[in-house]
Amino acid sequence: MPRYSRPEHRIASKSGDEMTYTPPTTEQLFVLDHIARIDAMAAHDKFAAATPDMVEAIVNGIGEFAAEVYAPLNRVGDVHNPKWDDGKVTMPPGFKEAYKQFVDAGWGSIDGPEEYGGQGLPFTLATVIIEALGTADMGFTLCNILTPGAIHALMAYGTEEQRQTWLPNLVSGAWNGTMNLTEPAAGSDVGALRSTAERVTEGEHAGLYKIKGQKIFITFGEHDLTDNIVHLVLARTPGAPEGTRGISLFLVPKYRLDAEGKPAHSNGVRCASIEHKLGIHGSPTAVMIYGEDEDCLGEIVGAEMGGMRAMFVMMNAARLLVGCQGVQIAERATQQAQRFAADRVQSALAGGTDRTPVTIDQHPDVRRMLWRMRAQTEAARALTYYAAAQTDFGKLGDEAAAMRAEILIPLVKAHATDIGCEVASLGIQVHGGMGFIEETGAAQHYRDARIAPIYEGTNGIQAADLVGRKLGMAGGDLVRGLIDDIAHGAGEFPELQQLVDACRAVTDWMVAANTGDRLAGSYPYLTMLATATCGWLMALQHQAAKAALDEGSGDREFLEAKIASTRFYLQQIVPAATGLAPSALAGDAALAPLPKFA
Ligand SMILES: Cc1cc2nc3c(=O)[nH]c(=O)nc-3n(C[C@H](O)[C@H](O)[C@H](O)COP(=O)(O)OP(=O)(O)OC[C@H]3O[C@@H](n4cnc5c(N)ncnc54)[C@H](O)[C@@H]3O)c2cc1C
Repeated sequence: MPRYSRPEHRIASKSGDEMTYTPPTTEQLFVLDHIARIDAMAAHDKFAAATPDMVEAIVNGIGEFAAEVYAPLNRVGDVHNPKWDDGKVTMPPGFKEAYKQFVDAGWGSIDGPEEYGGQGLPFTLATVIIEALGTADMGFTLCNILTPGAIHALMAYGTEEQRQTWLPNLVSGAWNGTMNLTEPAAGSDVGALRSTAERVTEGEHAGLYKIKGQKIFITFGEHDLTDNIVHLVLARTPGAPEGTRGISLFLVPKYRLDAEGKPAHSNGVRCASIEHKLGIHGSPTAVMIYGEDEDCLGEIVGAEMGGMRAMFVMMNAARLLVGCQGVQIAERATQQAQRFAADRVQSALAGGTDRTPVTIDQHPDVRRMLWRMRAQTEAARALTYYAAAQTDFGKLGDEAAAMRAEILIPLVKAHATDIGCEVASLGIQVHGGMGFIEETGAAQHYRDARIAPIYEGTNGIQAADLVGRKLGMAGGDLVRGLIDDIAHGAGEFPELQQLVDACRAVTDWMVAANTGDRLAGSYPYLTMLATATCGWLMALQHQAAKAALDEGSGDREFLEAKIASTRFYLQQIVPAATGLAPSALAGDAALAPLPKFA
């Protein structure tokens, strides 16, 4: 009996009320089976522990935990923002206790390396955990998003001593990791950063570096959830060349450790303020000052001037998990809109004789919005799990999968976060005027969603990465390989075949085009390629759901809904992406400088 045969269940809160959030566990298991191919991962020794029972226990367990413990804090964090006072940040009521429960339950350590206290399971399952927590409370879950990247960077570039010192507490979640790139004059242009790092040559701290500088917009840069914070900071050593080539990566703890490895000595790290923001109010966004009044000591991670290489390891995990935020907010907004639409009565059905008003989910245009929300959410989830799985297969030695993941990262980061915004916006539309009123919560999803296309490299920068670095790999053949796979899976859907043909033509044009023309078409091209990939993954699910229905196995209601949502995606969303080809091919000339305002 397949695992997605279990009917989806609602989680009751401790007070007995129904939660506003139902973990989509049936759907998650279906995508893990048919898109991530979690069973194929478990066939390898490294991930042998990811048995079907274990996977199901994780998906159900984290869903329950997220609904019970994190979801009730979503509104709390939105209303009672973290408070800054003289360099300290106090989180809203209930956050510290909830975070402790998360650590104590071991949810943070799922994919951590076993030799440092982790459970060694696939990153794909860690992604499902972040998805569940973030659907319950996106702002709060940001605390968990950057730590995996810090772990990956230390595993790839740290020394054994650094790993032993820092990883056990990062893996358990007892300490969180932060990522410090941005400075006032260095946003998208990371190479413009001015923070400095000078090697200590004598005394007890010889070999460490004195860090000086200001970083802005640092997510969870300061808070009271953990007794130490591990900042990964980009800075420039004396004499290093300008630009990204001269950047090195440093591990800078909030507190330096004593001989027992306990946080003991203050380290010249100060939070100067936190930002007032449009959304994600539960996440403190900090201005961090390093080495202003007292020495701030950091350890180099990797080689001097090898900082961007190490940071890219961290960024790949973070970009995928930010893409996952699109899934989170889309899922939450869709559930809320569907419940509202099933309740709200307005207008009789057009074209009938019965003039009794009906619930709005019976009106065709509301159904259009609800199906679109659902189909886009499922597509974003499939894309995210697929990319996470390719990184796992890469770790198992599948080089082609590792390369595929490289192509997919900008697609996930940009397209899934665009979907998050679109779906949250539709969620407000479904609510009508009540969507614009804060008390329904629909507005919070929209406000929260809006940051995801901006941070972790704006979506414009993702598009530039796609047509620059990624398309350039193997002369375009990696992207062409993805398009070939999509073409093979297009199945019964001519709409997808048409999009594939358009993607092929634009890819060939892009490979031959000059930089200006490529960049001018980069965003529509990214949307085309991401939609084609989603279309393929939706077509695969369509076929799997049909096969399960034909066999008579599985939950009928779930499988029929899956067939309908995947068909909607392929027939109604895919064709619009084909229409982007002219914009992708228009070239630089179509984007002349704008005229000045009078
Ligand atoms: C809530 C929040 C949390 C954040 N968390 C962190 C964090 O934890 N760590 C961290 O280091 N940073 C963090 N950031 C910073 C974030 O990553 C940057 O805001 C982002 O990279 C964009 O930089 P910028 O704001 O300077 O915008 P700019 O770089 O000034 O960009 C402005 C616009 O110009 C476009 N643009 C700029 N350059 C190019 C180009 N070459 N080609 C095409 N378009 C371009 C951008 O796409 C954007 O639309 C956070 C920001 C926020 C708001």
